Amino acid sequence: MQKRGDFKELASKSLCPCESGKQYRSCCKGKEFKWECNKKGDVRKVVKVYSELMDEIEGHQKKVEEAFGRKVNNDERIFNSVSIKDLDNDFIRIGRKAGIPEMYLYATYKTGITVTEYNKNQFSDKDLNDWQAAINEFEQLTSENNFEKGKINSVTFYLFVHQQLECTINKVFEYLEIGISKFLSDSNTYDIEWKNFKVVDKKTYIEYCLFKTLKNIDASRLLMNHAHTANAYATVRFIFETYLNLFVYTRDHELYEQKLKPLIGLELDTFEEVIGNHGKPIKNKFREIATGTIYKTDMPIKILAETAAIESPAIFEVYKDLFEDLSGYVHVNLTLAKNYFSINDLYNELDENLFAGFLSITFAYLQLYEVSKLDYVTSQSNRDLAFLSHKIGEEVLDVLILLKADGENPLYSSLEQVIRFYR
Ligand SMILES: [Zn+2]
Repeated sequence: MQKRGDFKELASKSLCPCESGKQYRSCCKGKEFKWECNKKGDVRKVVKVYSELMDEIEGHQKKVEEAFGRKVNNDERIFNSVSIKDLDNDFIRIGRKAGIPEMYLYATYKTGITVTEYNKNQFSDKDLNDWQAAINEFEQLTSENNFEKGKINSVTFYLFVHQQLECTINKVFEYLEIGISKFLSDSNTYDIEWKNFKVVDKKTYIEYCLFKTLKNIDASRLLMNHAHTANAYATVRFIFETYLNLFVYTRDHELYEQKLKPLIGLELDTFEEVIGNHGKPIKNKFREIATGTIYKTDMPIKILAETAAIESPAIFEVYKDLFEDLSGYVHVNLTLAKNYFSINDLYNELDENLFAGFLSITFAYLQLYEVSKLDYVTSQSNRDLAFLSHKIGEEVLDVLILLKADGENPLYSSLEQVIRFYR
């Protein structure tokens, strides 16, 4: 006996569920899928699954069964975790890398389906019409007529911005790797075992900063390529922090003596921890052994930014515009969580993921600029690093001009001023 929840194929003379307005028999019936319904009135589309996909599904099902230690039920959902919009964005990003013509990616973005020569019989006529309409729309939007008339729409604009950004970022990532590795090698750390590396003076501190940044841009590149936007922003924060430290401690000798030297002194046994009443070391408090003087080494990032801003005022603007916002990404703040999990609309917005990559290369190359002025590196090395950072600066400024066309954002102007400080 059929239960109310049991599905069976729709009757031929029923109205087709694909919204064509036609009867099922003269519409979707006979294609490579079936419309089914049950007595409760639920309707579902049943499609044939190719063997490769079936293998994937069965593999996933096995993992779910292993995880829960039981068989899954017949009608149980086994793919629960992913958001469709996220998958669509991944599809667009991967598709672009694989060289799939943009019009098909756009059609997937618009319709939520992907039609190919092999699967076209699995779609209703209405789906196929929507698919074709989206392709036509894309061709219309990107047609040369628009340019002749001086019209530019968001799809064309963002496609161009994405291309430029991606191209610049990838090129600069490589420049940075070459530049920073050269600095580290010229600075006599060529053969160093980083595991045993000790910060014992200002020179080694600077090397440590640049080494950290080398690691961070590597991470940043990976995160960007996998569209882990939130984590990419967290890495931007590390790179910016390192830039601030480098900027302040190479200029402000007194601050270096107060805040950094005690920490370095711990390595050299010239400083010691201060023990509190509870018998444990007090955080950020150290005593110089020779003089008995106590130093407090805590240095809030805001104070660092304020100190740097004495010389390059826009740095504090960047800190305000960017850093306070980024905190929302780093320490997931409930009120900002929506932002944290927001999903880009790749045809109407700047890809945040690429923007994070852009910020990474900007704060990393500024560090290269900083060290190109240091006197203990060879003069050839100084010239090389100055040349390279100048060249990267040109690229970065070009991107900023493009971003400004995207709309007013105070961050763009303050970033530009921070860069111009060096020119
Ligand atoms: Zn139909």
